[in-house]
Amino acid sequence: MKKTFIVLALAFAGVNAHAAALNVVTSSSDLASITREVGGDRVTVTSIARGYQDPHFVEPKPSFLLLLKNADLLEVVGLDLEIGWLPPLIDQSRNNKIRPGSAGYLDLSRGVEILDRPQGAVNRSMGDVHPLGNPHYWLDPANAVRIAIQVEKKLEELRPADAAYFQAQLNSFKTRMNDADKRWRAALAPFRGAKVVTYHNSWPNFMRRYGLNVVGYIEPKPGVPPSPSHLFDLIGMMKAQNVKVIIMEPYFDAKTPESLAQRTGAKLVVLYPSVGGAKSGTDDYFSLFDTDIDLLVKALKN
Ligand SMILES: [Zn+2]
Repeated sequence: MKKTFIVLALAFAGVNAHAAALNVVTSSSDLASITREVGGDRVTVTSIARGYQDPHFVEPKPSFLLLLKNADLLEVVGLDLEIGWLPPLIDQSRNNKIRPGSAGYLDLSRGVEILDRPQGAVNRSMGDVHPLGNPHYWLDPANAVRIAIQVEKKLEELRPADAAYFQAQLNSFKTRMNDADKRWRAALAPFRGAKVVTYHNSWPNFMRRYGLNVVGYIEPKPGVPPSPSHLFDLIGMMKAQNVKVIIMEPYFDAKTPESLAQRTGAKLVVLYPSVGGAKSGTDDYFSLFDTDIDLLVKALKN
């Protein structure tokens, strides 16, 4: 009788250990996708921002407070990407576990390669939304792996009993990412050095990875809407440099990019900077890159 009880108690303990998945909230859908890869069935992951939203400007909703209130871990992109909307939500959630500096707060910008780091004093005047360096660093598979490594370390810290599981998940992710990256490199290899213009400065890591050259932006500074004089200069530069492709993120108004395409003869293509950015074909990090690279190759072939 006593023995049966112990066996049952152990069985329940085992069930409970699995049932209590870590509750992870991420600021972006890309961090969510990578965390699902590493955390597998030991985590429940929810992203606050949707992939089709501009991550600099997310409208706060009451439902976000509930998410944060119940979170064991909050992951952020950092570099002030979420400065306009996340800090008040963390405050109002009254969840001390996920405050900056606590064990349940993870800023992924700490362990990745950051481009466009400012030289000298940080300057937020003129509306520059990239004051600490480019926050769109997740758009490079090498950084995706660096994000996964940091996530694995943190999950292990919060759930030491599942360490071996998280390590195995991370290794599988690294292998699959390495294979996928080879495929993506091969697809873009014929276009090495091609010049493109992008709406927002979202793609420096991506373009450097695949050897493409961003020569201008529709925004005069990240977060600043285009002015007529800036567009006039941009058109002149695009014609002089024979730029064939304009890239825009899905959350901007297409009017300006369309008129720019018309006046320069360049092809306009919408690329998705985040998982879930399109209705289909961007369900996780791998399919996001498959879709974007396919779209980009088609545009560059023209
Ligand atoms: Zn940005």
